[in-house]
Amino acid sequence: VPFLKGKRVAVMGLGKSGTATARALLASGAGVMAWDDDEGARRQGAESALPIGDPMVKDFTKADLVVWSPGIPHTHPKPHPVAEKVRAAGVPLVCDVELLARALADHRFLGVTGTNGKSTTTTLLAHVLERSGAPVAAGGNLGTAALDLPVLPGDGRYVLELSSYQLELVDSLKLSVGILLNITPDHLGRHGGMAGYVAAKRRMFDFLTPGGVAVVGVDDGACKSMAAELARLGVRVVPVSVREALADGVSAPDGILLDNGKPVCDLKSFPRLPGAHNWQNACAVYAAARADGIAAKTIVAAFESYPGLAHRQELVAEVDGIAWINDSKATNADAAEKALVCYDHVYWIIGGQAKEGGIASLEQHFGRIEHAFLIGEAAESFAATLEGKVRFTRCGTLAKAVAAARNLAVSDAIPGAVVLLSPACASWDQFKSFEHRGDSFRELVMEFAS
Ligand code: ADP
Repeated sequence: VPFLKGKRVAVMGLGKSGTATARALLASGAGVMAWDDDEGARRQGAESALPIGDPMVKDFTKADLVVWSPGIPHTHPKPHPVAEKVRAAGVPLVCDVELLARALADHRFLGVTGTNGKSTTTTLLAHVLERSGAPVAAGGNLGTAALDLPVLPGDGRYVLELSSYQLELVDSLKLSVGILLNITPDHLGRHGGMAGYVAAKRRMFDFLTPGGVAVVGVDDGACKSMAAELARLGVRVVPVSVREALADGVSAPDGILLDNGKPVCDLKSFPRLPGAHNWQNACAVYAAARADGIAAKTIVAAFESYPGLAHRQELVAEVDGIAWINDSKATNADAAEKALVCYDHVYWIIGGQAKEGGIASLEQHFGRIEHAFLIGEAAESFAATLEGKVRFTRCGTLAKAVAAARNLAVSDAIPGAVVLLSPACASWDQFKSFEHRGDSFRELVMEFAS
């Protein structure tokens, strides 16, 4: 970020993105003051030689710019005192993506947002672009923080996963393609309600360059009206649907990808893209890659070689005819449903810290479940939901659940059986994160798979 040389920049929040930001600023010769409301994060920052200063003492309003970590609430549910002061003083409040956009203004950016499917779509799009021969870097909300991304040659492409929180804190981004997958109620507390959440997602398309393309999933009401509004404004919109065949747009109502109604490929043949939710991701990627000038044939070949993302219906191993699937990212019932509907004979490992509503909404899929293995704090409430409908065993820990599932699945020997860790719960009662839970599952499976 050489354009900030000699400027005074305050950095609020010292997670992955804030730390990368502070380092990049220091390396560019900016005067940096960093802070995190969490003491542990501050200590870590100080240990890696970042200048730490309390914004209430070292007044952040004296800075030329404040870089805010998107994870820290600043407006809703209640205003953050530092953000309020900074804004009142007229100091710009931005996130790290804004600095990346300013630093590399002459590069090509493609953005991905949506309530669900962002990471899959971002990595799939990056994979397709890479296979077409372009230099590519992907990051933002997932994986690599914006200011840790490499500087690409001029013909390079940046694929940015953008959360609604990041979109609120960006101004200068220029996108050649913007993808909005879907909008369902989520994070409403931080956006002051559904209207605020939709408005944050809508910002994506304020960043389109002239002639830029808006790829919009039109299977939910909020996105559908946004697509219509953008088209009225003269924006080039490519609608995407997995509910209906679109004469204009990219669709896959039965898994056959249709480009303006013409069949291109059968998405059901790609094991790393299971389920209609992934067809939505694949259709959006197809539309974006076509807009980037990539041939349909190249895109389809790249779908085939896409390795998939860890913890999202990740096939860990196949042992004795049974597939072991890690869907640890499914931290609520909605996400678990996406996985359940993909299989007919499921040995289901569930539990952890239950979300509101538990798994009652999944009852219509209970017929797919051969047996459930309960772990964690949610075991008793889930047992009550399953009682009389699904056979289950209380296992306590993941290790016991894996062992019990293995015994039963091997002795039942049903063709097409899967053992699915799709816990419909947060992981924090027994694990550090959903990644930690998924990694533990993989290790337990590899003990007998290798
Ligand atoms: P995000 O980055 O938006 O959290 P991911 O790609 O990591 O999304 O997927 C997270 C989970 O969301 C997946 O395990 C799957 O259950 C579900 N999912 C993925 N894509 C979609 C989609 N297009 N629509 C609805 N749910 C999806």
